[in-house]
Amino acid sequence: MPEYRPDSPVLADIASHWKSAYVHVPFCRRRCPYCDFAIVDESIGSSLSHAEYVDALVAEIAMETDFGPLDAINFGGGTPSRLTPEQLGIVIAALRDQFGLNDDAELSLEVNPEDWSEEFGSGLVDVGFTRVSIGAQSFDQDVLQALGRQHTYEMIQNAVEGARRCGISSVGIDLIFGHPAESSKSWDSTVDHAMQLDLDHISTYSLTVEPGTELSRSISNGAPGPDDDIQADRYERFEKLALGQGFVRYEISNHARSGHVCRYNLATWAHGEYVAFGIGAHDHRWGTRARNHVRPDRYIDDIHSGSRPRLAIEHLTATEQERDRLMVGLRLAAGTPLTATAQRFAVSLEGRRFIEAGILKIDSGRITVTEPMMSDAVIREALSISSSDDGKEGQQ
Ligand code: SF4
Repeated sequence: MPEYRPDSPVLADIASHWKSAYVHVPFCRRRCPYCDFAIVDESIGSSLSHAEYVDALVAEIAMETDFGPLDAINFGGGTPSRLTPEQLGIVIAALRDQFGLNDDAELSLEVNPEDWSEEFGSGLVDVGFTRVSIGAQSFDQDVLQALGRQHTYEMIQNAVEGARRCGISSVGIDLIFGHPAESSKSWDSTVDHAMQLDLDHISTYSLTVEPGTELSRSISNGAPGPDDDIQADRYERFEKLALGQGFVRYEISNHARSGHVCRYNLATWAHGEYVAFGIGAHDHRWGTRARNHVRPDRYIDDIHSGSRPRLAIEHLTATEQERDRLMVGLRLAAGTPLTATAQRFAVSLEGRRFIEAGILKIDSGRITVTEPMMSDAVIREALSISSSDDGKEGQQ
């Protein structure tokens, strides 16, 4: 494949046909105060062993048919680096046997810095990983502590340099901005540190307050929470420096150097199909969205009884699929094709207001949000307008 810029519309359209697999690894040493993901918090004990979970994943993969070959495999979590390279390799082999892998397929893994060692890195290369995303989050020790993270700046640097040394082709980090413990100076320092590392990809996420988390409870009890304006400033500061250093924004939260776009990310936002395995995993294929059980015991019970561990399956109408494509595609710098649903939004009162303000652009058969920090507002309006179409479709 030729090397496209990460924000190329041609690349986004190619990605919409990629087929991916997501594998959820739920184990975490302990739950971070802001996290509401489907995880197994090992600090409070777990009856589910890593080996038992790997066996369950292999069994679940064998139940999925008629998909592939795969262009991308992504291990997310939880903390996928809690598994050994050998255990990850067993899951990769099961995916390869079941679906096939294209020659240039991307194999990516989220890694927590404290799990990195030279041996771990070379094990990842041996089983075929081409990309790692290291969960740095911040380079300020006070912010890391407030986020409940257990690593140090030195561990992040060690993981990035180690990943380079062992020959992983794309090395990236994740950052979180906007925690009340983070000052403007500390964010600037984090961004400066990130720019000094030899990185191909950076994901940046604003801290969000999820109901039921420790963070949410402490804010209810009077602790300060994240501030939208401050988060917008932090994002702009990061983006300015990242663009100046040769990174290209291809999705609101993702910047890459040319040749290092994350296939799995791009395919997901371009509305490509993906199968997903593991506790709490969601997949999207053939106009169906399905979710697995979040409770480990329910997931394992279903696997042992030979059935897919589904919590819910939703069959989407053609209109709902088009709406989904618009919702995810508006996050992409390349935008998304101007389908009938997108067109209806563009000519609505709200759509025209965004266009007049220069926030939404229609060009060459695509619809694109030009201001990344406005994406959520645009997507909310697009969703409300396209949702009102569902009733009309039902009446016809
Ligand atoms: S390491 Fe990641 S998945 Fe695990 S608890 Fe922390 S934020 Fe959640």
